Amino acid sequence: MKVIYCKECSDLFKLTREGLRTCKCGNVSGRYREDGKHAEVSQSAVSIKIPNGYIKRAVHRMEQLRHEEPKSLDKAYKAHSSIPAWVRPNFGPGNRHTHRLKKDANNRSKT
Ligand SMILES: [Zn+2]
Repeated sequence: MKVIYCKECSDLFKLTREGLRTCKCGNVSGRYREDGKHAEVSQSAVSIKIPNGYIKRAVHRMEQLRHEEPKSLDKAYKAHSSIPAWVRPNFGPGNRHTHRLKKDANNRSKT
């Protein structure tokens, strides 16, 4: 899953194919292309990757722990149901399927 973050307003959101998403302050935008594999993000976005399937598995592990050991504290959940995520460049070899959002994409979405 591709997630983008705005350094200005701290918004964090996933990209979708349904259309362009923009952070609260308007600084960062992004979307998946029709093929669902390639994406486009604005220059100022911070790209974050969460590998597919990890959130569902972590939710499952959290529910298991809550059921089996209901008095577990936060640190137990951190150890038991954490997810991997990493920050990577918006474009280039570190993020080969993401491309620069065309400048007029923001204008189109506002009309
Ligand atoms: Zn913002």
